[in-house]
Amino acid sequence: MNIILLGPPGAGKGTQAQRLVERCGMRQLSTGDMLRAAVKAGTPVGIKAKAVMERGELVSDEIVSALIGEELDSMGDDAGAIFDGYPRTAAQAEALEGILGSRGRSLDYVIEIDVDEDALVERITGRFSCATCGKGYHDTFEQPRMPGVCDKCGGTEFKRRKDDNAETVRTRLEEYRAKTAPILPIYDARGIVRKVNGMADMDDVTEAIEKILAG
Ligand code: ADP
Ligand code: ADP
Ligand code: ZN
Repeated sequence: MNIILLGPPGAGKGTQAQRLVERCGMRQLSTGDMLRAAVKAGTPVGIKAKAVMERGELVSDEIVSALIGEELDSMGDDAGAIFDGYPRTAAQAEALEGILGSRGRSLDYVIEIDVDEDALVERITGRFSCATCGKGYHDTFEQPRMPGVCDKCGGTEFKRRKDDNAETVRTRLEEYRAKTAPILPIYDARGIVRKVNGMADMDDVTEAIEKILAG
């Protein structure tokens, strides 16, 4: 099974991908995570991407598609792939067809996480994650069960993203509207888009996605 989670910044793509990984043994392929790792490591890709990401603009199609190809090659053929934050442009959607096809894979579903735009700034400015294992949290909507201790790994250090501020969110949302939302009709024409209500509780969103994957 190969699926895309599609939705604006803060829709819940990462949250739902992490849950699916734990429950279904699929792999999460997040270009945002890959790019942040490259920035941290100071690789040539990271050096190119850093300022673009801080402005909330999109990194080049060539860079992200190459990252996705490498990541797919590093995982077993049997593991399902959850594309989180990729593709984000028509060119990336087209590249993905080739990337999957040449590896004997094909897309099963595009899960559109539908959210109220007014909720996104609060979602994003309250977002943080475990510095050790990456589990996502929120100041209001998902605090660790024991304050200051990660539910998943017991880690006590947390981090916030530099681009998770109200101003950058506006640019990211504009990029989503202009470049990412227009790829939905391409998939819709193929009959593989399934919409879920991203304003529901996280558990309910997970349940809705699992129902879709179960067929
Ligand atoms: P994305 O990967 O689409 O940018 P995230 O999964 O990181 O979004 O979610 C953004 C923030 O909103 C996180 O802090 C997360 O805990 C929170 N969040 C995710 N889904 C929901 C939901 N259904 N209801 C309330 N908050 C949510
Ligand atoms: P969010 O969780 O808010 O949707 P991501 O972590 O997916 O954000 O992406 C953070 C930033 O990384 C984006 O604003 C963009 O600069 C860059 N990025 C991530 N994925 C892509 C992609 N597929 N194409 C271009 N840029 C990307
Ligand atoms: Zn942790």
